[in-house]
Amino acid sequence: MTRLSNDSMPKSEALPVFDDLLSMQAQCAKWQSQGLRLALVPTMGALHEGHLSLVRLASQKADRVLVSIFVNPKQFAKGEDLGTYPRQLAKDKEKLSALTCHGIYAPDANAMYGEDFSTSIHVGIVSEGLCGASRPHFFGGVATVVAKLLNQLRPDMAVFGEKDFQQLLVIRRMVKDLDMGVEIIGGPIIREPDGLAMSSRNAYLNTSEREIAPQLNHILRAMAEKLRQGETIAATVETGQRKLIAAGFDKIDYLELRSEKNLAPLEDPLDATKSAEARLFGAVLLGKTRLIDNWKITD
Ligand code: AMP
Repeated sequence: MTRLSNDSMPKSEALPVFDDLLSMQAQCAKWQSQGLRLALVPTMGALHEGHLSLVRLASQKADRVLVSIFVNPKQFAKGEDLGTYPRQLAKDKEKLSALTCHGIYAPDANAMYGEDFSTSIHVGIVSEGLCGASRPHFFGGVATVVAKLLNQLRPDMAVFGEKDFQQLLVIRRMVKDLDMGVEIIGGPIIREPDGLAMSSRNAYLNTSEREIAPQLNHILRAMAEKLRQGETIAATVETGQRKLIAAGFDKIDYLELRSEKNLAPLEDPLDATKSAEARLFGAVLLGKTRLIDNWKITD
């Protein structure tokens, strides 16, 4: 085990950080030989309450909780924010030390992807459209790194947030299709008091952008209300798009109503059966920051 940071916080001392696979696997094998159930919470770090809620959920369901922190180069395209993505391992460790968390796995990119690394996992259908349309590299990168993490650590379960709802479905699909034998647990979206979904990328927002940002959630909520009242999907989406631009967002990447089961687009009329599985998905650009959110139509 290698300690990566020199936190002076005494609480953090107890929480081990593993940067090499062999020591991490030795620890996981030890836990598993003791019959302890292991949960993994994969993250890219810069932890906020959204991540921490997943750690709490994991600790309710498993005996040992591992958080992986890895800014995965394979899910960033050229020109995206790989270089500037916030990295703050010491702070993350401090936050996790206050929770029931038994280890941090923080491999470096060279260790994760050797020179000749050549494999990419493509998950069909659920990774097409929405974020998959504007970020075609993204879900391949996510699926590949999650498959590696699951194969490396062999947890009994892994926890993902509904904030990245499409990602959650992609992982569920991959695990089922490839018989990976790990339980995938989804956790609810954690928001700021004004409704903005928490995200490590919210740190990019300047003061005026931060004021505009919660409107994404407010507009999704208003759209859900209109749909519940019987307004057509086309009219609701058109109004939503107009409101987003009026609120100050620079570009709408997508704004769509889809089934939360398989992301199939939904069409009018929106009967009770379709409403029950309908979820609004939105992605916008605000300055240089891309924000995503989603909202279920019925409770
Ligand atoms: P990231 O570090 O952004 O890759 O996210 C790691 C995990 O945390 C993913 O499963 C995300 O869906 C989840 N997550 C991120 N933000 C939130 C949030 N606001 N609420 C719940 N889960 C979240």
